[in-house]
Amino acid sequence: MLRVLCKGQVDLVDLAEGGAALAGPPVQRSISTLRLVLGDQLSPGLSALTGLESSRDVVLMAEVESEASYVRHHRQKLVLVFAAMRAHADRLRSAGVQVRYVALDDPDNAGDLASELQRAVRDLKPDRVVRTACGEWRLEQVLGTWAEAAACPVEVREDSRFLCSRQDFEAWASNRRDLTMEWFYRDMRRRTGLLMDGGQPSGGVWNLDRENRKRLPRGLRPPPRPAMAPAPHVGPVMALVAARFPDHFGDLAGFSWPTTAQQAEAGFVWFLEHGLAGFGDWQDALVEGESWLWHAAISTSLNLGLLDPMDVCRRVETAYREGRAPLNAAEGFIRQVIGWREFVRGVYWLKMPDYVRRNALGADRSLPPAYWTGETDMACLADTVRNLRENAYAHHIQRLMVTGNLAMLLGVAPAEINDWYMSVFADAFEWVELPNTHGMATFADGGIVGSKPYAASGAYIHRMGDHCATCRYDVKGRLEDNACPFNALYWDFLDRHEALLAGQGRMMMPYRNLSRMTSDMRDSIRHKAEKIRMELGARPLPAPAG
Ligand code: FAD
Ligand code: SF4
Repeated sequence: MLRVLCKGQVDLVDLAEGGAALAGPPVQRSISTLRLVLGDQLSPGLSALTGLESSRDVVLMAEVESEASYVRHHRQKLVLVFAAMRAHADRLRSAGVQVRYVALDDPDNAGDLASELQRAVRDLKPDRVVRTACGEWRLEQVLGTWAEAAACPVEVREDSRFLCSRQDFEAWASNRRDLTMEWFYRDMRRRTGLLMDGGQPSGGVWNLDRENRKRLPRGLRPPPRPAMAPAPHVGPVMALVAARFPDHFGDLAGFSWPTTAQQAEAGFVWFLEHGLAGFGDWQDALVEGESWLWHAAISTSLNLGLLDPMDVCRRVETAYREGRAPLNAAEGFIRQVIGWREFVRGVYWLKMPDYVRRNALGADRSLPPAYWTGETDMACLADTVRNLRENAYAHHIQRLMVTGNLAMLLGVAPAEINDWYMSVFADAFEWVELPNTHGMATFADGGIVGSKPYAASGAYIHRMGDHCATCRYDVKGRLEDNACPFNALYWDFLDRHEALLAGQGRMMMPYRNLSRMTSDMRDSIRHKAEKIRMELGARPLPAPAG
């Protein structure tokens, strides 16, 4: 339903889903405000739309080549973003909003957002441009530079879809030596009131992570996830993406991401009913051939704006309070959304642009080709790449403890691994991808996001899942030809970074074990690790110029 606020103004928050007409009526010339909506800003309550007057304002949306190819995004991600943008434009139009929509194959498409803004300002002569701040630092710079020479004033508004503003995060971080997620998370619990009972955490404990590390019992399988029928724009956009981006990674056939708010809602309701109860217990499990487990698969919808973070958390809390989910599931979920998601976004904006250049471990190797092809005898890696190729998805432990851990142990250069994470996930947006990759997974940031590297040998993957049972490699071996590659690489990693890491409290135990090894053993491990690097194709990269 649409509410009239005052003469000509519309409230878009309760907007119904619209039809499927991409080309709307021509927008009028000489308008009041041009409102830019980006591909990851598809929320009806977006700050750029606040105060919109349907008779005098125009919303600009543009599918542009530069955004589609500055990294070689997974082809499902491109379909997702463009189809969701088109559905959002329909929805705005059905509410009476004038939308100037520039499709990728529009012959007049200028190819990048600054040029599209320029073209729209020239054609429509608005009094001002209003936009919501970009999620990514790179694009914010591009649009900021454009605004300096623009023919009209540009107003940039805070992205109010996040629960902690950039300013609030800066204030929180300003009087702290270390940015510890746990303290941030507790503040967010107090601030939002989620899972709080009379000023205390529900159940008397803030964090139930220890209860969320169970191995899946034999015979238990995750609930089958229903396929999402494609919304109207998906077919044509898929054909466009197949023709324009034939060499980007990923299959298109299995596409089943929600591209409308209605579909995102249906997916989340399914998770509440079938996934949430097991989310906590099996959050860290790994299972051969199981792509989604009990995970919510809502990151694309949250990142595009099809779901609202506070709303999903409130509904998860309600499920717990009504006895439909245990506390470890509800707390685990809420921690990821109001804790980790908000925390990494805060770190990103606090530390950019230097953050992207950090390389605390001096990693200098190329990314093994198996990250793209999946052609490897390492069962855990092959299954993760399969999931990525088929679904543009891998769950958190596949990202952190398989691909991230392996890249860190191999010494893959941050730029190489960062580019890969941006290229193979449907939910990859730099504000969330980069701190997870440089911070949590590979320790390239030197300890800003995590207090210690998440380095692990094959024993961790063996403990959490069933890949090792069918793998060609022996998870217990260390130096043998068929020894699990993670093992020698793990000890070699500790050896190589002893000077930096041995003094860190949480690394004491592994370094105590390393110190018990003879120097001959340490030499053998170094040789074995280098052999593995060369066999996998993690080759030394030329030193960066300058
Ligand atoms: P669930 O496991 O069901 O969790 C629910 C929600 O919590 C997620 O949808 C997500 O919004 C949030 N969440 C969980 N963990 C994190 C986290 N560490 N950081 C931020 N949000 C979190 N997430 C992205 O959205 N985009 C990325 O590009 C991305 N890259 C990552 C790279 C690495 C190396 C790692 C270790 C994690 C990355 N994550 C990323 C975080 C997390 O793995 C995904 O959000 C999650 O796997 C998405 O699947 P889901 O919706 O099923 O999540
Ligand atoms: Fe992965 Fe090693 Fe287990 Fe094989 S043995 S699945 S490589 S951890």
